[in-house]
Amino acid sequence: MISAASFAGIALGTIVALFAGPRWHRAAPRYPWQLLGAAGIAFLAGALIRPWAAEREGWEALAGDAFTVPGYLLMFLSLGGLLLARGSVQRHAVIDGLIVCVGAGLASALLLAAPAATIDGRPQLVSVLAGLYPLFDVVFLLLLVNLAFTTKDLRPAYVLLLCGLFMLLAGDLAYAIVGASGDLTGSSLLDLPFVVTFTLIGSAALHPSIADLTRAAAMPVQTWSVRRLLVIVPAMLVPFALMPLIEHGTAEHIALAAGGTAMVTLLVARAATAVRDYAAAKLKSEHQATHDPLTGLPNRLMLAQEISRLLGTTPPATTAAGATLAVGEPAVWVLFLDLDGFKLVNDSWGHEAGDQLLVEVASRLRDTVPQPDMVARVGGDEFVVARMGNRQETVALVERIMERLSAPVQVSSAEVVITPSIGVVGSAAGMAPVPAVAAVTAEALLRDADTAMYRAKSDGRGRWTEFDASMHERVRERVEIELALRHALATEQLRLAYQPIVELATGRLVGAEALLRWTHPVRGPISPAVFISIAEDSGLIAAIGRWVLDGTLRQVAAWRADDLVDDDFWVSVNVSPRQLRDPTLPGKVSEVLERWKVPHTCVVLEITESVMIDASSVTDQVLFDLRRLGVKMVVDDFGTGFSALGYLRRHPVTGVKIDRSFVDGLGTDAEDEEIVRAVVAMSTALKLTVVAEGVENQAQQEVLSTLGVTVGQGHMWGAPVSAEEFTERWLALEATPDGDDDATVPDAAAQEAAGNS
Ligand code: C2E
Ligand code: MG
Ligand code: MG
Repeated sequence: MISAASFAGIALGTIVALFAGPRWHRAAPRYPWQLLGAAGIAFLAGALIRPWAAEREGWEALAGDAFTVPGYLLMFLSLGGLLLARGSVQRHAVIDGLIVCVGAGLASALLLAAPAATIDGRPQLVSVLAGLYPLFDVVFLLLLVNLAFTTKDLRPAYVLLLCGLFMLLAGDLAYAIVGASGDLTGSSLLDLPFVVTFTLIGSAALHPSIADLTRAAAMPVQTWSVRRLLVIVPAMLVPFALMPLIEHGTAEHIALAAGGTAMVTLLVARAATAVRDYAAAKLKSEHQATHDPLTGLPNRLMLAQEISRLLGTTPPATTAAGATLAVGEPAVWVLFLDLDGFKLVNDSWGHEAGDQLLVEVASRLRDTVPQPDMVARVGGDEFVVARMGNRQETVALVERIMERLSAPVQVSSAEVVITPSIGVVGSAAGMAPVPAVAAVTAEALLRDADTAMYRAKSDGRGRWTEFDASMHERVRERVEIELALRHALATEQLRLAYQPIVELATGRLVGAEALLRWTHPVRGPISPAVFISIAEDSGLIAAIGRWVLDGTLRQVAAWRADDLVDDDFWVSVNVSPRQLRDPTLPGKVSEVLERWKVPHTCVVLEITESVMIDASSVTDQVLFDLRRLGVKMVVDDFGTGFSALGYLRRHPVTGVKIDRSFVDGLGTDAEDEEIVRAVVAMSTALKLTVVAEGVENQAQQEVLSTLGVTVGQGHMWGAPVSAEEFTERWLALEATPDGDDDATVPDAAAQEAAGNS
């Protein structure tokens, strides 16, 4: 019915498909398919040789088996590899497979192998082999059952493969049944299942979904399912079904008893595994819910529980009446740590380095903090220590932590020094003195420690601060100011003041700095030094910054329209770090410049040193885009930060503004003079312009001039004043016939200072 040639053709096609298909569809790993292809070659060779061998005597009669047996082994390796690749080798799945195997093994050994082995008139080995095949099929079944249980998501290649393998099993069974009666060659009808098998497996190998079969099973293996029970239960019934067929006391009977015992043992193991897996899964999910995956430290949830527990164990007097916390008395302490400059590490060396750093910090904390105290990670670079103890111990611990964490850390190829800022709060701090209303909660303690940490950070990095109730006051005040500021922006309470920038030698006007002014209806004038930082924190700075730029350029446009200033007059606008993190800023600046038709070269943006130090890739791009617009950029308050030459070279800045604090000491403090000299030298080398700010007297002005600074700003010439006053004092005067017109025709030195580099 099926010619040897067409059989061989189909088989060869499948073998080629098994090698080519997975490669084509980028399956990985490919070795299970290559092994299956090799098995196919062995089976084909075995099938082709078998008719020839059947007519031989002795060893030659086994020529077919010499290929078929290795073929089975290759197939087992292939299926095993497939199971491994799918991550499906799980204990209960294996036990289920074994149960089915014992059932099927008993049936095949007693019904097929034993009769086949006792057929007379064949060499001993042939009989043994005839009995071996059904056992191979049992192993095959084990693997197949496991494979069938690895997913619910039945991809086409998977279905084709399983059907093909079951067909092979059916073919083997047919052979075994026929073989048990002594006929080994069989009719060609018996070849049909194998032809179907080859065809199905070949199609599976060519289907694109073949690549999915070696990926980890999409669905975790289910412990129990109807599908599973449908296979396991019949297998368990095998010993009972065979019982009546087997004669009492024979070897077969003993095998049956042994098989039955094995099955019961497996069932017990199966139940034990299920219970153990469940307990392990529960433990794992509990751990996951309460621990940070990166450092393995407890997370905020577990920390809050621990703080609550500690609070529950403190004597009521301590917990309740904050004011009465005596020295040495035990209390619950919460230490809130934040790493200074962590963002810098993350941005400069990548997240992997950041993670490495966090892991190292976690381990140092764990080493430093004594055992019953809890160390938790509650956020990106935020850690918390919760403990019970007295104040001295806690302060000593805080100091040990500061010291330990400040030691250099090796991340990727660099060594970094990172300091923590720590906020500390004891359970009695910030409490109302009335016991009845004083229910301290874990949340409240964490919040207060966080507040104290912020204070420590704003006092300068690498410090620790203990919480006190006035901090609440400060927080409340900031919230109030933020609300009022929002209102101020909407109701035009904000004003702009302009401070002249002049040529040092002559006092001639070359530009102006726009400075924001706010008069609160109740509190009176509030310093920008106070409200700008609040606007930064709240994000309000974006809207305020836009308002400032628009107002300033409108003013400059008005002055230009009235011919009071010309193209050489420039205006400085302060831009805060948060504004520079907004990638749309250059677009907005360009829009405002277009609206007021002010030449781009008449605008200087003042940025702070911190922008360059903490620069992210976004900020870098924003700075670059702004510079490309043609506006100039100077570093404000230069000298107060890290002022490294490298930062200046790497960023597209055009000048620096020497901070007031250095100008202050000029004429009296030799060190300040040296600093200014160094800044001038560095700026000259980098072709940067220099402006001195906060110049208040003649002595300062003279020293600056000798040091080579040509442009300055300060009370010596004038404080920031309203636009009207500025016009009157600095511009209108120039328009009178007897005033000199220097203000509108600045000389080359002043232009230089404006940043024409
Ligand atoms: P800044 O940019 O360094 O501004 C210079 C500050 O020094 C101004 O304070 C100015 O009034 C003051 N000043 C000028 N000359 C002298 C002097 O001879 N002696 C003394 N003692 N002080 C002098 P102000 O206006 O209070 O501004 C403080 C800071 O607020 C500014 O420092 C700037 O960083 C920020 N700021 C002001 N307006 C804005 C704004 O529109 N946007 C942003 N982002 N920040 C602003
Ligand atoms: Mg400024
Ligand atoms: Mg400044």
